[in-house]
Amino acid sequence: MATATARCVFLTPLALYSSGVTNLYCVGLENTIELLSVMTKQAQVLVVIPHPDDVESRMAGTVARWTREGKEVIYVVCTNGDKGTNDSNIKPQELARVREQEQLAAAEILGVREVIFLRYPDQSLEDTPEFREEIVRLIRTYRPDIVVAVDSYGRYIDHRDHRITARVTLDAVFPYAGYTHSYPDLLEQGLQPHRMKEMLICGTQDPNYYIDITDTIDIKIAALRCNNTQVGDEPRASERMRQWAKSSAEGQEYELAEAFHREEIRW
Ligand SMILES: [Zn+2]
Repeated sequence: MATATARCVFLTPLALYSSGVTNLYCVGLENTIELLSVMTKQAQVLVVIPHPDDVESRMAGTVARWTREGKEVIYVVCTNGDKGTNDSNIKPQELARVREQEQLAAAEILGVREVIFLRYPDQSLEDTPEFREEIVRLIRTYRPDIVVAVDSYGRYIDHRDHRITARVTLDAVFPYAGYTHSYPDLLEQGLQPHRMKEMLICGTQDPNYYIDITDTIDIKIAALRCNNTQVGDEPRASERMRQWAKSSAEGQEYELAEAFHREEIRW
C-alpha cells in the first residue's frame, strides 16, 4: 500500500552512471534501479506534480530545454494516478502500474535525471504536516535552484489533488525548507535548511514569465504521447499543444512558449 514513506526513486542508467550515489539496492526492474537510500546530491530543478502526466502537458518543452542546457531535473510525482480513467475494465492497481511506466518513458525522452514516486492514491492528498515534511525533505535533499509547482488558484473547478499539492509545495518552499528549526528530525538526519531565491508555477492562469519552447515542442509532444492511458493517439492532442504554446508566446519574439508564474522569495 502506498504511504507517505513508500518512496521510490528511479534513475535511468545514464543518470546512475553519473550520479556517484552509494547504497543502491537493485530490484531488477527494466532499465531502472530502485534507490532506497536518501540521496544528498544536488539537482538544479525539482518539479512537484500531483499525477503522472501533469508535467508533460504543462511544461515538458521547458524541461527538454533545461536538460539540453545541462540542468539536472528531478520529478516528484505525488499520486499514483490510479483513478485517472473512465474505463471500468481497468483496475486501479493496474492503471497505477501502467501510468508509472508511462511517466518513466516520458521522463526518459526529456532527459530527466530521476523520478520520485510518492504513490499516494489518486484523490487522497491532504494538507498534512507529514506530506509537507516529505516535500521539505526532498527540497533539503536535492537542494534545487528552482522548485516548480502546479497552480493552487485554479478558478472554481480544479482537481483537489492539484490544489493540495500546490499549497503543500508552496508552504514547503517557504518557509519550512529554509528555517533551521522547522523540522528538528530532518536536521538531526543531516538535512540542512535550503533557501531558494525563486519558484515557478506551471499551468498558471496568472502568467508573468515565459520560456521559449519553439525548438522543443516536438519532444514535448513525444513525451505527452508516452502517457497512452491519458492521451492515446488522439491526433488533436499535438495540435492542441501547439495552439496553446502559440497563444502563450503572444507578444514574445519567439513562436512557441510555455507560461509560468514566477515568484521571487525574499528571506
Ligand atoms: Zn493532474
